[in-house]
Amino acid sequence: MCVSQEDPKAVYQRLRAAHLSAVRAALEDHVARLAWPRRRIERYRTERLRSLLGFARERSPFHAARMADIDPAKATADDLAQLPIMTKRDVHDEWDTIVTTPDIDRAGAERVLARQGWFSYTPAGLQVFTSGGSSGVRGVYVWDWEQFVTLACLAWRWQARDERASGSAGRPARLAVVEAGEPPHASTPLFDVATGPSTQTVVIPAAAPFDQVLRAVADARPTHLVGYASVIGRLARAAIAGELDIRPVRVSTNSEPLSPQDRHAIGAAWGAPVHNLWGSTEIGVQAVGCGHGDGLHLCADEVILERVDAAGRPAAPDEPAARTLATGLAGRAFPFVRYDLGDEITLLPGRCACGSSMPRVADIAGRRDDDFRYGPRTVPASAFRHVLGTDPLISEYQVRQTRGGADVLVVGSPDTAAVAAALALSLRPYGLTNPDLGVSIVERIPRHTSTGKLRRFVALGG
Ligand SMILES: [Zn+2]
Repeated sequence: MCVSQEDPKAVYQRLRAAHLSAVRAALEDHVARLAWPRRRIERYRTERLRSLLGFARERSPFHAARMADIDPAKATADDLAQLPIMTKRDVHDEWDTIVTTPDIDRAGAERVLARQGWFSYTPAGLQVFTSGGSSGVRGVYVWDWEQFVTLACLAWRWQARDERASGSAGRPARLAVVEAGEPPHASTPLFDVATGPSTQTVVIPAAAPFDQVLRAVADARPTHLVGYASVIGRLARAAIAGELDIRPVRVSTNSEPLSPQDRHAIGAAWGAPVHNLWGSTEIGVQAVGCGHGDGLHLCADEVILERVDAAGRPAAPDEPAARTLATGLAGRAFPFVRYDLGDEITLLPGRCACGSSMPRVADIAGRRDDDFRYGPRTVPASAFRHVLGTDPLISEYQVRQTRGGADVLVVGSPDTAAVAAALALSLRPYGLTNPDLGVSIVERIPRHTSTGKLRRFVALGG
């Protein structure tokens, strides 16, 4: 028997339209926050923190057990240091005691993922996502209705501020969205966002062969561009080479570290402001570049970040930190409190030229997981990136660690012997005096099948 059922995409699109209207409404408040003085930001976030901790203690057995010694109603950001660190492993093992809503548990979240034909909302308005699992542990995440509204505002408020200031906010615009393009990754819902009433969006899956991405972006004739940093960088190099004729007035990058080389190529290709974003499926959005000053502005009103040493003690701003812990103030359905992000951040001193009091961090260089270890020696990913990212004849690359060196795959037409020689020189300061380096030209480098992300560095055993 055939039961007529409404197209799940149509159902999703109707709720999605309602959700985006909520985002555009909330954007007013979020743009105004960018001009708040530091003390107002701190007062706001203290109340947000108390709300999160108080709710988590009542509704999450996992958090209740860890929070026995503090009073959520009086807590400040400094008190977080009394709580244990929350790890990826905790999230995996304790999922059902962390989640605060009775509407879903881990098995229910997995059912949503297994059954949905397209992105979907649960009856309670939750969305379920998974990450790429680049660290080997697959994460399952739920974002509630209000949380998504906040996260989308965090992702887009800097761009919206500038569009308003320049008077271009209401003009017709076309946004090309080069993200995963399909479930279960959160990048498409988060970045396929029309912030103005006359903005159209075109979603282009980043994992498609590059010539297809290139053609789709050219056909979209975008005025605005958002996407994975490595793909946007490659599009910029294609534009410089005369293979792509578009004139975006604003460019937003995310999901992968934006290398200095890619940032430079974007500037050379289009001269447009770049809003680089640092985020995670767990917290959502941690920091976004304003397009004026260096680095990225932390979302200090909605995320509390702690830099700690290897023992979990707070590190002073000018001291190196072993890890970065994040507390996402908008994440009520599945609270992340002192969650170990695995990224390193460096605070930038001084106030940004754009006038905002939101503190800044330097561009995120990438996870420590990207470093290669050879016995007692560690070679940072930057030693490879410095050579491969600056060769104009290389449009994409992947470095796979081997026991005595690395196999490097490149797309393009470089002199492979010269590249190998330059890499050997670059690795020497790290104690690798006679590395075994292979450089091969390939047609394409496969991206992650569901997220479309490019893994540039593959450590041995990873
Ligand atoms: Zn700024």
